[in-house]
Amino acid sequence: MNNKPKIVILGAGYGGMMTASRLQKSNAHQDADITLVNKHNYHYQTTWLHEPAAGTMHHDKTRMKIDSVIDTKKIHFIKDSVVEIKKEEKKIILEDGELDYDYLVIGLGSEPETFGIPGVTEHAFSIRSVNSVRLIREHIEYMFASYNKQDEKHEDVLTFVIAGAGFTGIEFVGELSERIPELCEEYDIAREKVKIYSVEAAPSALPGFDEELVEYAMNLLESRGVEFKINTPIKEVQEGRVLLADGEEIKSQTIVWTTGIRGSSILEKSGFETMRGRVKVEKDLRAPGFDDTFIIGDCALIINEEINRPYPPTAQIAIQQAYTLSNNLKALIAGKTELEEFKPDIKGTVASLGGKEAIGLVGERKLYGNSASAVKKLIDNRYLFLLGGMPLVLKKGKLNLF
Ligand code: FAD
Ligand code: NAD
Repeated sequence: MNNKPKIVILGAGYGGMMTASRLQKSNAHQDADITLVNKHNYHYQTTWLHEPAAGTMHHDKTRMKIDSVIDTKKIHFIKDSVVEIKKEEKKIILEDGELDYDYLVIGLGSEPETFGIPGVTEHAFSIRSVNSVRLIREHIEYMFASYNKQDEKHEDVLTFVIAGAGFTGIEFVGELSERIPELCEEYDIAREKVKIYSVEAAPSALPGFDEELVEYAMNLLESRGVEFKINTPIKEVQEGRVLLADGEEIKSQTIVWTTGIRGSSILEKSGFETMRGRVKVEKDLRAPGFDDTFIIGDCALIINEEINRPYPPTAQIAIQQAYTLSNNLKALIAGKTELEEFKPDIKGTVASLGGKEAIGLVGERKLYGNSASAVKKLIDNRYLFLLGGMPLVLKKGKLNLF
């Protein structure tokens, strides 16, 4: 009989995939029975999704088969969707079965934050998965294809509203503004017919980020025809329009919702105490009161003690958490009780603006334009390297740096 402790990892995103990979590399499967569960048989890089959403990259470039990176003879893989975690019974309910565990890792990522604004779920797109971005790209192309087929032209067909000018919104607007001229050419449409609105509730785009870099980004995007509506919360979305708090309405057949995220709803459904869907984890990444359960990535909330506010959820943190977590799991299966504390090491923030443009703050250093864009690609490649070494970089990486 197999007496090895059972480790179950839910979600093969940045956190879950890197945890599985670290455990495999350290031969933890010799001492534990490890299972990774994910709703698809592929892993995708959430941080690249704005590109396939706009159609500037094929979605296959952002994803890889899980068994091309993880040796499924060492780490079992189950393609299924998690429905609920019965934490008192140490049981996972899947759509097609059940699993029990000794140690659980929750890395189920995030869901769009709607703040309860009416109509968002029904009428807006979101940038969350390969499925969701493939739909956006197809829809954008359909809008262009439809326009010249209409006898009476409807301008809302060529009006694109991006709700929220945080990093996701700005990165998507960057890609979209690069793609529009190509689409105009392909579908015989004059560029000035197309409108892109970036609508932001806060008094600035990229609130809280370096002002000079924000100005650079906004000037660049405006030069590509993007219109910003800053300090303008969206209060409702209806079919074919957004209603702004200042009373204005924008008619648009394409509304992309990027006003932030909350942790996977599975956590709330499973009875964890959450803040915006995220569980405030202990320093060793365990869920409070559940010594057998670790929570990482967008599902976990950790506090930046210097400013007493949560760290923004990022892939950077999810990847670093996977390193601490895999060490802690190895310690536990070796019978140790002393666990490592997670200390984020924030290297900086770099955001792409489409084409060869980006902005970034790395340490104290501000980066603009081509050099920022090259750094962004290096960051993307570094992740692939950590996950699957040089072969994965060569297969999926962004090799054209400049
Ligand atoms: P994810 O990587 O989102 O993975 C979650 C996984 O869980 C997925 O594989 C999903 O299929 C699976 N899953 C979800 N629900 C279920 C279920 N019920 N059952 C089974 N499986 C399930 N961060 C940065 O640090 N740098 C960046 O440049 C950056 N750029 C970004 C750009 C965009 C467009 C977006 C949207 C985000 C970006 N982020 C960036 C944030 C970053 O992507 C997230 O913080 C990161 O993906 C979190 O990792 P995770 O492992 O928690 O979740
Ligand atoms: P976010 O919370 O960073 O930004 C959301 C934006 O939407 C905010 O500026 C907010 O003021 C605005 N907003 C909220 N309600 C609104 C409303 N009703 N109307 C108009 N605007 C509204 O969320 P995000 O951009 O989705 O990013 C999610 C996480 O992923 C963040 O932690 C972010 O740092 C990270 N991320 C990082 C990068 C990068 O490093 N390059 C890129 C994308 C995302």
